[in-house]
Amino acid sequence: MLQDGSWGRYHGPHCDRLRDALAEFHDVEHVILCCSGTAAVELALRSVKVQPNDEVVMAAYDYKANFANVLTLQATPVLADTLPGVPVLDPKQLKNALSDKTKAIVCSHLHGCFADMAAVRAVAAEHGVPVIEDACQAAGGRLNGKAAGSIGDVGVLSFGGSKLLTAGRGGAVLTNDATVAQRIRLYTQRGNDAYPLSEMQAAVLLPQLQQLNERTHVRLQRVRQLLNALPADSPLTPALYPDPTDNVDDIPAFYKVAFHYDGEKVGGQSREDFATLARQNGVALDPAFAALHKTHSGRRFRAVGELPNAAALHEELMTLHHPVLLEGADQIDALVAAIQQ
Ligand SMILES: *Cc1c(COP(=O)(O)O)cnc(C)c1O
Repeated sequence: MLQDGSWGRYHGPHCDRLRDALAEFHDVEHVILCCSGTAAVELALRSVKVQPNDEVVMAAYDYKANFANVLTLQATPVLADTLPGVPVLDPKQLKNALSDKTKAIVCSHLHGCFADMAAVRAVAAEHGVPVIEDACQAAGGRLNGKAAGSIGDVGVLSFGGSKLLTAGRGGAVLTNDATVAQRIRLYTQRGNDAYPLSEMQAAVLLPQLQQLNERTHVRLQRVRQLLNALPADSPLTPALYPDPTDNVDDIPAFYKVAFHYDGEKVGGQSREDFATLARQNGVALDPAFAALHKTHSGRRFRAVGELPNAAALHEELMTLHHPVLLEGADQIDALVAAIQQ
């Protein structure tokens, strides 16, 4: 790459190879590389023709930029509740969420959990609404043998700096729909690519993709070890769906690992103080996302009911960041000791 100067080209062999490799890995027809996961979500929304005054349904606990992307298109986010205790969309809320303005459902796999894609797709198909599957946190995961990102009508990946596949920045849109792919190309090609991924980024990603299955497997083993080792009186209890300890149909990907935090078990210590102490002990534990309805003006969205489950996650969810999961089995024991301390 250095010798032949291809790193400096706008169009070169590494992006072509990455596109092919991602298509094969996910078993999809079309891969559009782009500059970030956030841009990929925007392109996905545009590709299913979300327009001003349309509605886009998503969980009230979701990545903030997904909400912002819907507003960017001058459409309205419709916030539906999550399943109780876990950060994924509750498919049973969809019936009340859908209206004649609904143009898309955004469904994210978050913090080691999988959205129930089969149930979401069933309702979506009944109403003829496309599903955008946000797999930015789930690269390498498999639901019933299918790669995360390949199950919705349009799938989205991020190659951001902290993600499981990373080039510092970058993203991709996955689809089997030629029209969707063509709409994205038409939108991004303006004489040059307005949302580009570079040859240098592609070159960094290719070897990571080759290692992804093996790493996904190791991370899953480490999470199982961690869950086994956490004592019953720990303030942290897993908030994972489906349960990764006895599920054989799915292979979750752990960009983060979600936990409920119960401060009562440690003398009423706040979640924020606990996170600060954990970090001082070298544990990459953080308060998780804020719920979207708790942090945005009610004028910006339509809420489906009271959203109690998302509100509870807003208060009590914490996430462990993934790098420790590849550090070796002994580091998991050290991690548990640090958490207990
Ligand atoms: C990181 C992330 C994105 C956006 O990715 P960027 O590449 O950082 O723009 C979108 N959705 C989810 C769930 C993410 O975690």
